[in-house]
Amino acid sequence: MSNSILCNICECEIGLKWCSCGSKMCGSCVEKLEKFECVNCRKSLKKQIYFAGKILTNYMNYSRNIDIDRRIVILDTQDEKYIEDLCYKKNGDIPISSLFKFTEFLNLKNKLPVVEHEKHILTGPCLILNEDEDSLPQHGCFYSCFPTKDISTRVSILNKRNMEMIKKCDIFVLTINEELDCFCAMKEWGVALSNNKILVIEEEINYIDDSMATYDYSNIDMSEFYTFAQDSLDSFENIDVLMRDDIIKTIPKFKFHDWITYKCWLQSIINEKTTKEQTYSDLDSDLGEYHIGSYHIG
Ligand SMILES: [Zn+2]
Ligand SMILES: [Zn+2]
Repeated sequence: MSNSILCNICECEIGLKWCSCGSKMCGSCVEKLEKFECVNCRKSLKKQIYFAGKILTNYMNYSRNIDIDRRIVILDTQDEKYIEDLCYKKNGDIPISSLFKFTEFLNLKNKLPVVEHEKHILTGPCLILNEDEDSLPQHGCFYSCFPTKDISTRVSILNKRNMEMIKKCDIFVLTINEELDCFCAMKEWGVALSNNKILVIEEEINYIDDSMATYDYSNIDMSEFYTFAQDSLDSFENIDVLMRDDIIKTIPKFKFHDWITYKCWLQSIINEKTTKEQTYSDLDSDLGEYHIGSYHIG
């Protein structure tokens, strides 16, 4: 019964292939797994993910949120009091396992560690903090204008570290921000593409209430990212159809929960671009007639 899609645990008929060994599980059984590992071969089901985009995301339009599922935090201090304050639940609420020393970050001889989360392994990027008392976050958000460290003299190291973190990942997630100025992230997409990573694209989230449970998606015209959408579709081509849902479901705070809905969204981006081009070309031919009419008088 190799084509069976029965869940190996509850035997319902919506088992997805979560592991390369072929074992299948349904969403609700996966939710209940004590350790996120295959029930058959015991291999970890966690994928290595890199999240490209602006390092801090918008929160209620006046502060920025630390997304600890998606950022490794780098600190240039040994000050235990500061670290304690930063990690405190009502400040940064950062688990100590997500923190690394700036000296480790600078020393390119050593590989940067990854951070294990419940359902994924975070390879990067890094949020390099400015450890100024006034910049301490409150309730997981920065209200300071300068929460990140000035690393203008170390951009070369930053570039090398980003390349290292991208090469380590299985899945590369690009978040497009509303201002469309995530140029570093767009450059990194090209790196991930040439390294045959699984490519995922999304729009930025704006948290719109204090509990951070409510959020909105920005109003970005995604149609200009139609080639990115195609790259993403192509990158999933090499993955077993039964494993595509697994990829989508392991991305923390992702808008889509299954492959088909995500795929349709990508397709709509491409279609939107085609419709737009069509409109422009109709407009062009109208303008063409106008030009002929107006320029050739006399
Ligand atoms: Zn099941
Ligand atoms: Zn397995």
